[in-house]
Amino acid sequence: MKIHFHGAAHTVTGSMHRVEVNGLNLLLDCGLFQGKRKEAFQRNRNFSFDPAAIDACILSHAHIDHSGNLPSLVKAGFKGPIYATPATIELCSFMLKDSAHIQNRDVLYVNKRRKRQGQTLHEPLYEMKDVEACLKKMKSHRYHDSFSPGPGVTCTFTDAGHILGSAAVTLDIEENGATRRLVFTGDVGREDAPIINDPEPVHDVDFVITEGTYGDRLHPAMQDIKTKLKELCGAIVDKKSRLLIPAFAVGRTQQILYALNELHAEGKLCPVPVFVDSPMATTATETYENHAQNYDQEALEYLSKGDYPFSFPKLRFTPDVEASKELSKMKGPLIIISASGMCEGGRILHHLAQGVGNRDNIILFPGFQAQHTLGRQLIEKRNPVRIFGEEFAVRAQIVSIRGLSAHADQKGLLKYIGAMGKKLKQAFVVHCEPHPGRTLAREIVNLGVPKAEVPTRNQSFTI
Ligand SMILES: [Zn+2]
Repeated sequence: MKIHFHGAAHTVTGSMHRVEVNGLNLLLDCGLFQGKRKEAFQRNRNFSFDPAAIDACILSHAHIDHSGNLPSLVKAGFKGPIYATPATIELCSFMLKDSAHIQNRDVLYVNKRRKRQGQTLHEPLYEMKDVEACLKKMKSHRYHDSFSPGPGVTCTFTDAGHILGSAAVTLDIEENGATRRLVFTGDVGREDAPIINDPEPVHDVDFVITEGTYGDRLHPAMQDIKTKLKELCGAIVDKKSRLLIPAFAVGRTQQILYALNELHAEGKLCPVPVFVDSPMATTATETYENHAQNYDQEALEYLSKGDYPFSFPKLRFTPDVEASKELSKMKGPLIIISASGMCEGGRILHHLAQGVGNRDNIILFPGFQAQHTLGRQLIEKRNPVRIFGEEFAVRAQIVSIRGLSAHADQKGLLKYIGAMGKKLKQAFVVHCEPHPGRTLAREIVNLGVPKAEVPTRNQSFTI
């Protein structure tokens, strides 16, 4: 058997690995590489293998850095099935469409400049028809519902506890009379995260391809989001102002709604109107509601008492633009949860433009803010900031909550890998920068695993 690492090698995006066994070519994930525009353009358009020669693709979860280049794969001639869990397929159905919109918008922007300079125009990476063709190829398998993607290979999904539907992929491979177990972790979640289950251990593993995003660090304790929300709600009620929460549409928005619902159930939340002002967050919340079988015990207990975790008095979703515009005329107190999570686009920009200059308002950042984003500028207290090309003075209070990451830290990853058992012969650390990768590889060897590698892009291993 051969494993080829085509993406998320020494970097955290573009997850893509290929297993060659018994004449079969299996692709694990087909994620979008997200980086500098020129490099991303090249990498996402040019596969370092023949897409038509892939027999099947197995998708760990819906995040775009794992699923976002599937439409390109189909466009480039891939004919096989794409296996994923039911929740992953439902999330992909709108996340990939959203990604096609972004691809189109980006290419329009680039082409404007190229036209001025008399250069040939680019095509978008993929279009809606490619997404539709890709979605038709998706075949769903629930956790533990084993299936065969080809001769001598049995595949089983287990809950990775990262986002709704996220799976670790176990391949039981029969080759030359021997059976070996290869596990691809996808992204590993954290213990005790709300709504979804903890990562489910996999045993008797021979080889593992593991993520290593936080392989060199320990997360700070998960700050109590409920306590913070309660305190901030109190402040905006007193001042009749706004609490603006830029949040990722999938995962983080639902985490906040879940906390607000709990506060409500406990009678601790002042009756403040809450608006989810993001079409994608609205659809994602519906998907979370459609897949209650994936909830953890606590969330199931809420449901059994007739309490729906994403529904409480005064919670409203505003899918259309008109309803969104109405929000700007409303008087406080009110809470607006909107995307994008790093304030790089989406309706949150309108709310920030309107609200950032008011000293009674609060802007709460519940997620990581990457360098050079508006979100990062705000948490670094830059003043003024530019929104829609205009300068805005920042007077609102800026608050951030730490420790809500959806990824396991070093301790969590080592616990997950440690549970794989004494047979584990070799680990491949992917989905990480070089330092966390090497640190995690060293710690894996300290666990007693004979070999741990941090593959570079397009490196191959025969095992
Ligand atoms: Zn992920």
